[in-house]
Amino acid sequence: MMKDFDKMLAGSLQLEEPWYIKGAEFRAEEGAIHVNVGIRPGARLVCPKCGKATKRYGYEPGERIWRHADCLFYPCYVHCKRPRVLCDECGIIQINAPFERKNSRFTLMFEGYAMLIMADMPRRKASRLLRCDEKSLTAILKYWVDDAVEKMDLSDVKNMAIDETSFKKGHDYATVAIDADKRRVFDVQHGRGKEAVAEVRKKLEKHGGKAENMRSVTSDMSASYLPAVKENFPEALQVVDKFHVKQIMLKALDQVRTEEQRAAEDKKTIFAYRKLFWVPEGKMTEKQRNRFQALAKSYPKTGRAFRMVQALDIVYAAETFEQAEKSFRKLYSWMRRSRLEPMKKAALTLKAHSTEILNYFHNRKTNAIAEGLNSMIQAGKRKARGFNTFEGFASMIYLIVGKLDLAVANPLS
Ligand SMILES: [Zn+2]
Repeated sequence: MMKDFDKMLAGSLQLEEPWYIKGAEFRAEEGAIHVNVGIRPGARLVCPKCGKATKRYGYEPGERIWRHADCLFYPCYVHCKRPRVLCDECGIIQINAPFERKNSRFTLMFEGYAMLIMADMPRRKASRLLRCDEKSLTAILKYWVDDAVEKMDLSDVKNMAIDETSFKKGHDYATVAIDADKRRVFDVQHGRGKEAVAEVRKKLEKHGGKAENMRSVTSDMSASYLPAVKENFPEALQVVDKFHVKQIMLKALDQVRTEEQRAAEDKKTIFAYRKLFWVPEGKMTEKQRNRFQALAKSYPKTGRAFRMVQALDIVYAAETFEQAEKSFRKLYSWMRRSRLEPMKKAALTLKAHSTEILNYFHNRKTNAIAEGLNSMIQAGKRKARGFNTFEGFASMIYLIVGKLDLAVANPLS
């Protein structure tokens, strides 16, 4: 039984001869398991620097301790005094143990498990479950994510979406770049200005990509992204995405609603019905439709504005560019003639970017794929909550939506 236990432990530590388990003990007062690892005294060793056979030259002065993955739910610690070698070429060199990453106080298996847990829950919760402080977890996360990001191959990125996203409770911003075909985040830059877009280009080129190979770039219509995209990706078709167009419409609708509500006596109903406005055209249930009709009767301005929002859904349902262009024009003139100030203003914004908005229909398939990425990023953000630094936030976004090829083993696979 004890022998099998040693075997299991050795496996989890990737120990092979001449490394072996000297012993393991359970310390009841501490509620922890301690494992001693050693190396056979007569073992043949090679210099880790040049690979030549060499001789052991004593051991490091003090014993080192690594935190290992829990064993029977008890924290497990590995103790080892690692040997040194004296190489003719390289001098005295410290040998690393098979279970460690250089300079880490955790075993590789612990780190692999920690990465799994962190991908699944907010950092504070992960810290509690793993019984490991948040700072150490962040260091583990950053190491493996940076390692994988450094090795990213971006030579075939052809369709990209960029978007701003806030972090630190909305006090700071990042620009996220997405490969629309592979549906993954490939870059996270601090800030949301022109420089961020230039940095995305640099990153792409550093990893084998070419700015002139970019066929389309999708973004919101902000004054910093659109010109910066044109400058850095001159060959790309510029597209303003559906999500942001709809946002402009909904914001205008909300203004119409607020004004009408202010004038009304019944202040609650119209607010309670606000969720209805998010239901896309064609997706309403019978009950929702009836509710809306009742609402539109008592609040005709809000009702009209909402019908315009629905008309936008019809624009996006178009199957051809010509169809889309026609219904977009129709919607624009309807909004302009509406005598609803916020809708009239929104119409001008849409008109100013109509080329980029309608470009969506030139590259419809890819853009449809790029949609939904926003919800992906939101999922990453929820887990990145609790990170106060840009680096921590960026690492988490990469981990959740970067489809990273992590070098650390997943202990469950
Ligand atoms: Zn050497």
